[in-house]
Amino acid sequence: MVAGLDEKLEPIYQDVLRRNPGETEFHQAVREVIETLGPVLVKYPEFAEQKMIQRICEPERQIIFRVPWQDDRGQIQINRAFRVEFNSALGPYKGGMRFHPSVYLGIIKFLGFEQIFKNALTGLPIGGGKGGSDFDPKGKSDCEIMRFCQSLMTELYRHIGDHTDVPAGDIGVGEREVGYLFGQYKRITNRYESGVMTGKGLSWGGSRARREATGYGTIFFLEEMLRVRGNSLVGKTCIVSGSGNVAIYAIEKAKALGGRVIACSDSNGVVVDRDGIDLDLLKQIKEVERRRLTAYVQEKTSATYLENGCIWTIPCQVALPCATQNELTAKDAKTLIEQGCIAVAEGANMPTTPEGIRVFQDAGIAFGPGKAANAGGVATSALEMQQNASRDSWTFDYTEQRLKTIMVAIHRRCHETSEEFGAPGNYVVGANIAGFLKVGHAMSAMGLI
Ligand code: GLU
Repeated sequence: MVAGLDEKLEPIYQDVLRRNPGETEFHQAVREVIETLGPVLVKYPEFAEQKMIQRICEPERQIIFRVPWQDDRGQIQINRAFRVEFNSALGPYKGGMRFHPSVYLGIIKFLGFEQIFKNALTGLPIGGGKGGSDFDPKGKSDCEIMRFCQSLMTELYRHIGDHTDVPAGDIGVGEREVGYLFGQYKRITNRYESGVMTGKGLSWGGSRARREATGYGTIFFLEEMLRVRGNSLVGKTCIVSGSGNVAIYAIEKAKALGGRVIACSDSNGVVVDRDGIDLDLLKQIKEVERRRLTAYVQEKTSATYLENGCIWTIPCQVALPCATQNELTAKDAKTLIEQGCIAVAEGANMPTTPEGIRVFQDAGIAFGPGKAANAGGVATSALEMQQNASRDSWTFDYTEQRLKTIMVAIHRRCHETSEEFGAPGNYVVGANIAGFLKVGHAMSAMGLI
């Protein structure tokens, strides 16, 4: 028996372990949710009778397929791809595709499971899903990326659609990859269905502010957490792990709102720039040249590079994990707190380990879990779907305003729910319960599905 689960929840969790052997990230994501659901079963006993938690833990459909492609040397390569269509109670399955060598079913299921609650929290009509492949984009030519995407879509196209399942980007999948995927979908089906994918380019159905949305949204959520504590971002020293899409736009908005961002990272090391991270340089290196962060220190004398360094050792007041799952441990959390950290907002999915979260919560600092704090990306994907459905295209300012309103509402919903269920200010409890209730009530209304 694992400590911390009550006697109703323990067998549910044990069943998830038994049915999904070896999928440790999925187990972690499930456990993090169900350990907060005890009070929900007390208030809504019908959910226990309806086996609502067990139903939500089982994906509606899981697709695993072969992706054969030829590299630039003419060699045949075989990858494995996944699409887990987890829950469609609130709308079509919605969630990104991740291309990374670490991808296997357990990673996609953890991401798909989190996506259900995240998408519910946005208040927009989207279900939860996720996909990806163990393909490693690092070092691949543009042609290789295109051939891989075309091969993947040659199978995936039959499973997706604007009313069925709407993929987008995640780690390793940005506008370029969405372009190759969408192009192949259009070619195979002979249909220009803009709403079948989000994260598209602006000239072919994409939304303004989608690229910025996850990072900006994380900072809007952070600002709300600070505001209710009578504080603000102005003058705060921030560190941001990662240097991809989420990190870059979290840095941009944090700076715009008065924060001082002094460090970011990639999988090889950490850059600390005492003058503050130079965003134009960072964008040039990462978005245009697709190079490693070592290029940053070659250009800037105010910056130092910590090879294989841990970003969480840099003193700061605000920590923004925007790289990947389980990148921030209990040890890191303790270091951060000792050095004066007062707030953490997760731009990545599940970046803090369960023990790390406990350290933050015991210290009473503001902690915004990913399924709330990084929901701005998928929320703006839903806004992209709205624009596609009405064949319209909104301005940047209008779209950003909608994003901000959504993030403020998510914060409020999580905060109110945390109070209602006896854990005021605990955004993990608030996000899990608010998301679960929305999906649970919808499933309940639709009968045994
Ligand atoms: N991959 C993003 C996430 O984790 C966005 C998904 C989407 O836009 O569909 O929420």
